[in-house]
Amino acid sequence: MDEVDLKHIFFGKFDGRKILRCIQCGTCSASCPLTDQMDYAPRELFALIRDGEMITALRSNTLWYCVSCYYCIVRCPQEIPVTDLIYALKQMAVQQGLCPACHKLPDMYHSFTRVVAQYGRVNETVLMARYALRHPVDALGNLPMALRMFLKRRLDLFPSRLRQPDRIARLLAEAKRQETP
Ligand code: SF4
Ligand code: SF4
Repeated sequence: MDEVDLKHIFFGKFDGRKILRCIQCGTCSASCPLTDQMDYAPRELFALIRDGEMITALRSNTLWYCVSCYYCIVRCPQEIPVTDLIYALKQMAVQQGLCPACHKLPDMYHSFTRVVAQYGRVNETVLMARYALRHPVDALGNLPMALRMFLKRRLDLFPSRLRQPDRIARLLAEAKRQETP
């Protein structure tokens, strides 16, 4: 898919047209606690998209460093839903296979969704076991913390299911169907 098609999807399906209201004041970037880690601050991200550089925007680590603190939305003088649009870009990056290879959060999200679809709720042990298949070194590094949590009874070894986990699975499947461009 080329840049024009991607911009069309973002503007149409994900309501990305709202970035056209951006006056590039930089308030969002100045408010963001993670800009020093990001390839592009939120203001720059929107400028890239307006210039048609969709693939660069979707490959950016900005999407994965956003911690959804919502400061940018609260302070934007144009009432642009910055965080929501970043979520939309995350979805697009996953769908188009454009997540930055070095970043692990997409794998964590993927594992999270699969665990919820299977059991109807999150179980941290299963979640980390699935994640460990892709990032074993990370998982090993987290073992001491997992042990401490287990000893404080904050970690269930075995997952419990909802009575009807298939209903959650159907919800997730419907959400996925609606997200598909
Ligand atoms: S605060 Fe709003 S108007 Fe200002 S640069 Fe950020 S998104 Fe654009
Ligand atoms: S919601 Fe994301 S982009 Fe906005 S200020 Fe917080 S971390 Fe930065």
